[in-house]
Amino acid sequence: MEPPTDATLVPPLDSLPLPRPHAQPEPPTGHTTSTADRGSFCLAVCTCGWSGPARRSRDLARKDAARHATA
Ligand SMILES: [Zn+2]
Repeated sequence: MEPPTDATLVPPLDSLPLPRPHAQPEPPTGHTTSTADRGSFCLAVCTCGWSGPARRSRDLARKDAARHATA
């Protein structure tokens, strides 16, 4: 009488491929600025939510916008 020898073979664990670290999609780097009139003032606004100080001259607001877009 032989003892039952059904040794259960454990299959090697399949090495699961590690999930790739999700590459964060880079936020849009471009700032799209424009000027907005606020009463008799003009201020620069950007698509990122930034807004410049109210200026009496649109030219100054444009300069604010340009400075923000390049910063
Ligand atoms: Zn911006």
